[in-house]
Amino acid sequence: MATIPKDQIEEIRFQCNIVDVVGSYLPTLKRMGSTFKCNCPFHQEKTPSFTVNDKMQIFHCFGCQAGGDVFKFVMEYEKVDFVTAVKILADRAGIELRYEGGATENKNEKDVLYKIHQDAAMFYHRMLMDSPEGAEARRYLEERELPPEILKEFLVGFAPNEWDGLMNKALEKGYKAEQLEAAGLVVPSDRNGKKSHYDRFRNRVMFSICDQMGRVIGFSGRIMNAAEKGAKYVNSPETLLFKKNRVLFAFDKARKDIVEARTAIVVEGQIDAIRCHEAGIRNVVASQGTALTENHARLLKRYADEIVLVLDADAAGVKAALASSAIFLSTELSVRVVTLPEKEDPDSLIRTQGTEIFRQLVAEAQSALDYLIDRRGGEENMDSDAGKMRVVKETLALINHCQSAARRDQMLQRAAERLGISIQALGQDMRRSKQQTRTPAPRRTEEPVKPPHVPKNHPKEETSLLELLVHYYPEVKPLVHDHLPLHCLVDPVCRHLVDQLMLDEPDVLTEQLHDFDEETQRVIIKVRMEECRKIDEETTSVELAQQYILLLWRKTLERKAAALGQDAALAAEERFREGTRLKHDISVLKKGWTHALPLVETLAEPPADGF
Ligand code: ATP
Ligand code: MN
Repeated sequence: MATIPKDQIEEIRFQCNIVDVVGSYLPTLKRMGSTFKCNCPFHQEKTPSFTVNDKMQIFHCFGCQAGGDVFKFVMEYEKVDFVTAVKILADRAGIELRYEGGATENKNEKDVLYKIHQDAAMFYHRMLMDSPEGAEARRYLEERELPPEILKEFLVGFAPNEWDGLMNKALEKGYKAEQLEAAGLVVPSDRNGKKSHYDRFRNRVMFSICDQMGRVIGFSGRIMNAAEKGAKYVNSPETLLFKKNRVLFAFDKARKDIVEARTAIVVEGQIDAIRCHEAGIRNVVASQGTALTENHARLLKRYADEIVLVLDADAAGVKAALASSAIFLSTELSVRVVTLPEKEDPDSLIRTQGTEIFRQLVAEAQSALDYLIDRRGGEENMDSDAGKMRVVKETLALINHCQSAARRDQMLQRAAERLGISIQALGQDMRRSKQQTRTPAPRRTEEPVKPPHVPKNHPKEETSLLELLVHYYPEVKPLVHDHLPLHCLVDPVCRHLVDQLMLDEPDVLTEQLHDFDEETQRVIIKVRMEECRKIDEETTSVELAQQYILLLWRKTLERKAAALGQDAALAAEERFREGTRLKHDISVLKKGWTHALPLVETLAEPPADGF
């Protein structure tokens, strides 16, 4: 059977926002609060319980329990298998599919690359922090006022001034030169007709570039001395892991703050982003000097409603700001633009004038529309007919990027005001110039029928604990980790998911949904989408988690007690003793967390008796 490589599936998922896809099948899908809703296509209903979550990229029907990611939706709606759903969506996104036999190979290859990057980042970091060779780099970063704590957080490093500093260390560790080459860390050469390799990064300060999950996937190396020859920055090439048009520097560290603020600040340079984080402004990511793409916009859209662009005040910066504004607007993000004082970047501004000035500039940033009219209006002679019309045209083009009629209308009103042209006239011109052709919704082949969901029953206490873990991860995870070994969970699905959640955050479950089997996917969707209803005013998530942990322990001991009766190998006396002990323990577990904690701690100890 044809296999589609996993990175391609990820690519397609990335390109096909579930809200857009579902919306093109179900035009009545409407935003309601933080999610999108409409009547469920999979069962008859009058009030919408079909929900699409933009942030998690999943759908769920509270009525019929249908649910899944974008592929699952297409599978169920079009009545097709997974591979066909992937094809339909690839088509929609304009992605050409490659089929391979080596999907698993690909995964292993990626795993090795992650490992190499992590090891390399640690190597560079140690060189910077401890080695004698790192002295100049340490001095350089000290001069730039980047303290050790922030260098540690961002895994900043130093690549020694050698042709094989990294390579030798990596070969010693058992990596192959080809693997290092695939990671972009060494460059092949065939001097004297003999193939060899040398380090790509030499004598540079190294910035680790991480993916959204915080895994190192590439590097950017800066020279320390302007007099030195060579580019100011050298970056990792495109690899299996590193896709320049997708990654945003510091995104993993900014994600939480972006969600809280619903705003992402986008700066250009790594050092700018690090400076902002260091100054306590943490919803900041850097484009690393590349043009912002739709991929970047889609990534940010999952967490933010608004983007504040902070780009250089020079001509290139203005051009980039306008191009990026259009991209973000077409992803339905609000955009504002900060104009920095000339010759300043966020790093220099914060350093010389303080954090508050920067915060204020961000707070007062003007809308992309005003920015365009000001900038372009300043360049053109607005008293001349031709000049003004050029600005009008560009303004309309910007407005045209918005999908939302409400947003377009609001922008048109503002443009009319600013340009002194009636909104009717602007509206007419805009409709005329509208070349944008919307992709029509895929044709519906047949009436969708209710998918054959036969929901399995999972023990309530286990799914409830999962729910708590997913919704209150930071406080509940340590509790579960320390006090509830996996063997206390009997349901294989719940057990697998709790196990996974001890390693990864809940987001990962939905991001890698199709790696799980059907039933597990269903449980993930259910626990992610359904509110955690059990939390009330009096009980905190932690208390509730404690109650469930005790309950699960009780069930475990009760199972053990029941098994005791069946165990013919045991002498009567022993059976009695063990039974009494279990009964006693069960009664302690019923007394509440404070009483039971010492027992739980003993029980949760790694088993000495093969328990
Ligand atoms: P610094 O403050 O160290 O000079 P910067 O971030 O202010 O760095 P800029 O020249 O403004 O430097 O460049 C912005 C970003 O563009 C850099 O952070 C880097 O990611 C990218 N960049 C700059 N020069 C290059 C280059 N020669 N090759 C690749 N990327 C580059
Ligand atoms: Mn700078």
